[in-house]
Amino acid sequence: MTLTASGPQASQSNARQGVGVSCRGLVYIYRLEGYDVVALAGVDLDISPGESVALFGPSGSGKSTLLSVVAGLLTPSAGRLVVGDRDITKASPAELAQMRATHVGVVLQGAARNLLPYLSAEQNVNFAQRGAIAQRGAAARRNGALPGPREVLSLVGLTARGRMRVRPDQLSPGERQRLALAVALANRPGLLLADEPTSQLDSRARDEVIAALESVRRAGTTVIVVTHDPAVGMQMGRTVTIRDGRVGAEGRRGEDFAVVGRDGSIHLPHDVLDVFSPGTLVEVLLEPDGTARLVPVGETSRTAGSDLSSNLTSSNVTGGNLVGGTFTGGNFAGGAAPDLWG
Ligand code: ADP
Ligand code: MG
Repeated sequence: MTLTASGPQASQSNARQGVGVSCRGLVYIYRLEGYDVVALAGVDLDISPGESVALFGPSGSGKSTLLSVVAGLLTPSAGRLVVGDRDITKASPAELAQMRATHVGVVLQGAARNLLPYLSAEQNVNFAQRGAIAQRGAAARRNGALPGPREVLSLVGLTARGRMRVRPDQLSPGERQRLALAVALANRPGLLLADEPTSQLDSRARDEVIAALESVRRAGTTVIVVTHDPAVGMQMGRTVTIRDGRVGAEGRRGEDFAVVGRDGSIHLPHDVLDVFSPGTLVEVLLEPDGTARLVPVGETSRTAGSDLSSNLTSSNVTGGNLVGGTFTGGNFAGGAAPDLWG
């Protein structure tokens, strides 16, 4: 896959070439006066071209930061990030601006932040294409390298008479959010990044936005959506849960999985964490069938049928990956302060 501008062939078929994303040990630190905030603490994540992913996670877990780093709006503090075939950690500000103008569409949290209030819907789309037209030449529209405003607005169902000509404040909240999506799609990006595009919408407006995302997804664009909405998660097929600045869990087709981190740590699901408070010492026992059991210190001598032990076996921590990994108390996410010696 390349990051070169889509030629006439691609544009005529209206097909988008999805742009993939690869994060390795991605770290982002907000440097504040007197102290630092580690917002991303080593994200390992691969998203294939054309894949669609919902990013879940508690508030403050690093979702928006991850989106901004992938968009090239924030420079990673450490780690490796490849978007398409471009190593973002090595790209210059001009190259990042070019990437956003041609390959990556971003919808920031809050529709209004993405729109110019004094321009009509159609003019907002035109405005979003300025950078791409500057790069591809004025003929970009005529030769089909760039879609016209009507084509863009039709992707999000905003071509009804009168809607293209009105300003954002004259649109309903759902329409405004769809217009923000349209603006992000104006340059036919291979990667769409959207931060909570359905929050603060009523159910009808939400369904409109979900339908618009679905049409983008079907057109072949890679879609990464930060959301709290299970309906969006269902639609995306793959969910990635960010906890404490790294990937804590993944869901595929409705099934949830913990993810073994590069340091061998694992975020325990909440129901398991209720039994194993942070700081609990456990033995990790690899079973002959390839599953692993977590046995708290003092439990090993008990019978295998003890409550805790059977509870854990049924929680089924699978995978030979646990071997060689370290389970340190500090790696467990969430919960109360470790009570190691109490
Ligand atoms: P989420 O989108 O999951 O709610 P964020 O990426 O916004 O999480 O934030 C991750 C962490 O970084 C939080 O601790 C948050 O307080 C902090 N943070 C976010 N933006 C800034 C900022 N501009 N300056 C300082 N800290 C920030
Ligand atoms: Mg956020």
